[in-house]
Amino acid sequence: MQQNLLDFDAQALTGYFTEMGEKPFRARQLMRWIYKEGESNFSAMTDIAAALRDKLTQCACIAAPNVMREELSDDGTRKWLLDVGTGNAVEAVYIPEETRGTLCVSTQAGCALDCAFCSTGKQGFNRNLGVAEIIGQLWWANHQLGKDAPTSTSSGQAQGNWKISNVVLMGMGEPLLNFDNTVSALRLMLDDHAYGLSRRRVTVSTSGIVPAMDRLREECPVALAVSLHAPNDKLRDALVPINQKYPLKELLGACKRYLEKAPRDFITFEYVLLDGVNDSVQQAQELVRLVRDVPCKFNLIPFNPFPQTHFRCSKPEAIRRFRDVLMGADIVTTTRRTRGNDIAAACGQLAGLVQDKTKRTMQCPVVLHG
Ligand code: SAH
Ligand code: SF4
Repeated sequence: MQQNLLDFDAQALTGYFTEMGEKPFRARQLMRWIYKEGESNFSAMTDIAAALRDKLTQCACIAAPNVMREELSDDGTRKWLLDVGTGNAVEAVYIPEETRGTLCVSTQAGCALDCAFCSTGKQGFNRNLGVAEIIGQLWWANHQLGKDAPTSTSSGQAQGNWKISNVVLMGMGEPLLNFDNTVSALRLMLDDHAYGLSRRRVTVSTSGIVPAMDRLREECPVALAVSLHAPNDKLRDALVPINQKYPLKELLGACKRYLEKAPRDFITFEYVLLDGVNDSVQQAQELVRLVRDVPCKFNLIPFNPFPQTHFRCSKPEAIRRFRDVLMGADIVTTTRRTRGNDIAAACGQLAGLVQDKTKRTMQCPVVLHG
C-alpha cells in the first residue's frame, strides 16, 4: 500500500522522512514540488537524489481525489465534482473576482447536523474526508487553473483571477466535526512551503461546535464564520438543531473568546434568509440586540431552494429591509450574490445528478471580507 503524501502536513511529512533515514529538509523540498509546482511525479523532482526518488516511487504517491466532472460558468465560476469513493462525491467551487479568487472546499461527505434548510444535511452523514481529500481540492483546482490560465496578461481574460488567494471551508460538511484532518489541511494552506496563504484569507465556517471553536483558537486560528440564521434560541433550535446542545449564549461566548486569538478582529455571521421564517424587521432588531457585544460583520445569504424543501427565498424587499436594520446599527452587512447559477455551483445539483438524488452539497461563499 503506497503512502499518499497529501495526507501529511509538514510535521507528519518530516516524521515520515526521518523514519526513512532522510534529513528533515527533504520534507520542505518535497512540499514545494507538490504544492508550489503541482507536481505528482517523483521522477520530475530534479533536485531530489535519484535513489530517494526511486524509493518514493515505490512506497509513496501524490494522489488528489479523482475529478468526475468539471463545469465552467459564464461568469468564470468553476465547479469540480470529486469522487471520494464508495459512491460519494463532494464539490469544490472556484469563484474569481476582480481582486481575489476564492476556493470553496468540502470537509465531509454529507453532514450529521441536519439543519432544516440544508440539503447536505438531508442526505445524512457519510464520512469524514481525509487530509488528502481536503487539501487535494486545492491541489486539483490549482492544477486546473494553472493549466487554463492565459499565458499573457494581455489576453484579456474577463474574470480577473486565476489564482487561489482565499479559501473558505463552506462546502459540504461541518469542518469542526472533522477537526484533526481539517486542521492538518489548514496547516498546509498556511505553510510557506505549501500554499502560503495568510490566516486572514482562510476561513472556517461552523454551525457552532463550541468546544471545537476553542480548540481551533488554540491550535490554528484562522478567520471564522459562524452560521447564525436565527435571533433567538427557540427559532435556532428548530433551524440549526446543534443549537440545542450549544445554545446562543454559549456560542456567542465562544465567538468572543475566539476573537482574542483570531487573525481578524471580527466574526463573520452567516444568515440564510428564509421567507416568513427569519426575515422580519423585528427579527433583525432582535439580532442586533443579540450580537451587541460581539465585533462582527454579517453575510446575508438568499436561501437556495432544492426540491424537497418547503422553505422559500426571502423577497428582495425583505432582504433589503433586513440589511438596512443591521446597517442602521453600524454592522457591516453584505448580501451574497449568487454565482455560477448556470452550472448549479451554488447548490450541489451536480453531485445530485451524478448520484441520482438531490443533495445540496455546496454553498458558495463569495462575499467575505478582504
Ligand atoms: N457546516 C458549516 C459549513 C458548510 S455550510 C456551516 O453550517 O457553517 C456553508 C453555509 O451554507 C452555511 O452558512 C449554511 O448555513 C449555508 N447553507 C446551507 N444550506 C443552504 C441553502 N439551501 N441556501 C443557502 N445557504 C445554505
Ligand atoms: Fe451541516 Fe452546515 Fe448543512 Fe448544517 S448547514 S447541515 S452544519 S453542512
